[in-house]
Amino acid sequence: MAVQVRVAVIGSGFGGLGAAVRLRREGVTDFVVLERADAVGGTWRDNTYPGCACDVPSHLYSFSFAPNPGWPRNFSGQPHIRAYLEHVTDAYGLRPHVRFNSEVLGARWDADGLRWELETASGTYLADVVVSATGPLADPKLPDIPGLSSFPGPVFHSSRWDHGVELRGKRVAVVGTGASAIQIVPSIQPEVGRLTLFQRTPPWVLPRADRRITAPERWLHGRIPATRALRRGVLWGIRELQTGAFTKKPERLGLIEALARAHLRRGVPDPELRARLLPDYRIGCKRILLSNDYYPALTRPNVDVVTSGLAEVRGSTLVAADGTTAEADVLVLGTGFRVTDMPIADRVRGADGRTLAETWKDGMAALRGSSAAGFPNFLFVIGPNTGLGNSSMILIIEAQLNYMADFLRQLDLLGGRAALDARPSAVNAWNRVLQRRMARTVWNTGGCDSWYLDAEGRNTVVWPGTTSEFRRVTRRVDLQEYQLLRPERTTATATGAAR
Ligand SMILES: Cc1cc2nc3c(=O)[nH]c(=O)nc-3n(C[C@H](O)[C@H](O)[C@H](O)COP(=O)(O)OP(=O)(O)OC[C@H]3O[C@@H](n4cnc5c(N)ncnc54)[C@H](O)[C@@H]3O)c2cc1C
Repeated sequence: MAVQVRVAVIGSGFGGLGAAVRLRREGVTDFVVLERADAVGGTWRDNTYPGCACDVPSHLYSFSFAPNPGWPRNFSGQPHIRAYLEHVTDAYGLRPHVRFNSEVLGARWDADGLRWELETASGTYLADVVVSATGPLADPKLPDIPGLSSFPGPVFHSSRWDHGVELRGKRVAVVGTGASAIQIVPSIQPEVGRLTLFQRTPPWVLPRADRRITAPERWLHGRIPATRALRRGVLWGIRELQTGAFTKKPERLGLIEALARAHLRRGVPDPELRARLLPDYRIGCKRILLSNDYYPALTRPNVDVVTSGLAEVRGSTLVAADGTTAEADVLVLGTGFRVTDMPIADRVRGADGRTLAETWKDGMAALRGSSAAGFPNFLFVIGPNTGLGNSSMILIIEAQLNYMADFLRQLDLLGGRAALDARPSAVNAWNRVLQRRMARTVWNTGGCDSWYLDAEGRNTVVWPGTTSEFRRVTRRVDLQEYQLLRPERTTATATGAAR
């Protein structure tokens, strides 16, 4: 028997849990959170690799409505962030809504019933509205390397760390130099026998202003909320001010680039190794990474940096694209996530019977990052072009939850059974302006190939503005941008007149 609900949220990371809190605040209690795993936390449940921590300070990388005066460090580690999300789940009474082991296998729009039919691993749900918070970095991207299956030892992705594998004294190869790899390398280097890093492109790395948050600070934040708010406000404000350099005037990033060069010089005295670690693209084009121990780790005698991607595996011999070979016992894939081809898009079938992936064959696009044409009453949290290069994704999530709340309010005001479907013209207009602005950004002009770009080189991942602008443009649903659908299949403009 299908279970009927007003709202089905998919995913229980920051996005899904935030949606659940917001639904309850809006007085909506008839909802479920469908989660494929057996615990909440998303990113912070799955990523348990050594050294895993956030790279936006914790006081900004947390919900504004659930401040945590007790963050132990500027950049808290995964166990603390996961514990925070578990705490939010209980403190806001979300647990009764969460359905674990309920992977959404398919979602189909029922045009007659004006609702979504969701097939999950734990049964069928019928929902008036779906909020998809499946995460931009939730599904590992596994490289298609010839011979990979011939590797005799353990192979695992950074986000699926196998803690049963003993690394002490082993020859470990790490593939990739992204945000996860640069946390992993210095954490495992002291204990492994030999570490080989396969670097296709060197990242720009800046010092990490990390430190313990002292007991008096924590006391103050607990007793005087204004101090917490001030701290968050400063962290946010600095990042807002930086945004223009990324989005409009990449040449202004020169100063930051000079800082990164100095950081490299300090960390790597050997000019030959330093040359191999120096990026040849503008800073900011790829995500800027923060670390104080990555460069020093690479100078240790048990580390080899191969400046070429892994191209082939022949048993325990790893062969780089430039022909360099290395022997390894364990292979760690820090190869990133399926960002521009998110798996949920293959599973959601809209009003015209096409999947989201088919609709997006020319690139992901959604009105205000939130709704795609032909997918009525279906909202994204962290949808297309909502990613950030330099600030906290929680700011984006909370803005999208404002939009979700207004969407539900508008449906209530319309009364009766109703659905709102983004007009293709509105989605196109939104996307045109966005892509025009994108053309000037460092992500598109900086001369790098990054995970922000899809197979065609389009940037469908990042938001080319400040977080305050995003908040402003997602504050309200503009009904002019939607078609109103009614059960008898009459189509009306969302503002009233039947057509
Ligand atoms: C190691 C790491 C560090 C990061 N650090 C930062 C940082 O410092 N600052 C920052 O702003 N961002 C950071 N990010 C980005 C981070 O992903 C976001 O900030 C945020 O956690 C995303 O939350 P989410 O809820 O959208 O997605 P997720 O946390 O990925 O949650 C998605 C959830 O959906 C579930 N799910 C997916 N598909 C289905 C399905 N079909 N059916 C049911 N359930 C499904 C998943 O199991 C998961 O629980 C980091 C990411 C990683 C990987």
